[in-house]
Amino acid sequence: MRDTTTPQVLISEVGPRDGLQSVKATMPTQRKFAWIDALHAAGLREIEVASFVPATLLPQMADASEVVQHALSLPGLTVMALVPNVRGAQAALAAGAHKLTIPVSASAAHSMANVRKTREQMIDELRAIVALRDERAPGVKVEAGISTAFGCTLQGEVPEDEVVWLAAQCAAAGVDDVGLSDTTGYANPAQVRRLFRRVRAEIGDKTGAAHMHNTRGLGLANCLAAYDEGVRTFDSSLGGLGGCPYAPGASGNVVTEDLVFMFEAMGVSTGVDLNRLMAAREALKAGLPGEPIYGMTPEAGLPKGFVQEAIHG
Ligand code: ZN
Repeated sequence: MRDTTTPQVLISEVGPRDGLQSVKATMPTQRKFAWIDALHAAGLREIEVASFVPATLLPQMADASEVVQHALSLPGLTVMALVPNVRGAQAALAAGAHKLTIPVSASAAHSMANVRKTREQMIDELRAIVALRDERAPGVKVEAGISTAFGCTLQGEVPEDEVVWLAAQCAAAGVDDVGLSDTTGYANPAQVRRLFRRVRAEIGDKTGAAHMHNTRGLGLANCLAAYDEGVRTFDSSLGGLGGCPYAPGASGNVVTEDLVFMFEAMGVSTGVDLNRLMAAREALKAGLPGEPIYGMTPEAGLPKGFVQEAIHG
């Protein structure tokens, strides 16, 4: 029986979206179902399952609606989808997603390169998505994820004042949460502390998730820094899948297994069963044969005598 106490942190698994759209191979739909089932069985209660973008751009996400509909059958799960624009939001709402996440680049250069829109135009898009949500599905949550918040491969430094400004604009556009993403793996813990503190001072309770990458080995340190600043939602990916198309062989997203281990070892409950989480790697491997996956904890195993306090059986 799983303990019913509310976990102290929410681990938001992004592998089925962020991970799968970063690899060349396309995971068959039935394999996606099995993997998402295994993640849910491990206790994950928020999963970003798909991205609603044209299949011509991302064939890996052509089955987004089906995947959302399958995920809706899993009890207690918040089914999240990435949408880049109003059209994507319409499709995601039609499929029944519980939560939408919209990437907004803090870097002016990245915004133009990625979505061919200025940051101001993306704020307009956010406002339109919020209006659509209010009209069609008032219960659905809308999150803005500020990408390149800690630095950009195109323009280098991203001024912190601009990130704070953008967070305020997103909040004013009516989104429920504003998260900060280290898209490029440039962040360090001092910067993470500083920026989350400034954003919280600006938008208060709308301060959302930390989406950290492990490109330079600082993913967990950055998550801990964000935790110390009051962040309680963390994005990560099983096996560290995806998140870094520019550095082949390097882990991108923070590894869910390592992140859960860190928090559980600290006595911070995640609601996730580590043994079942490790088992979910088999479903991922079966769906993407030959794709490298990462994780220090899965490779080393759990420490001798390690017990997860809040989870029994
Ligand atoms: Zn990522």
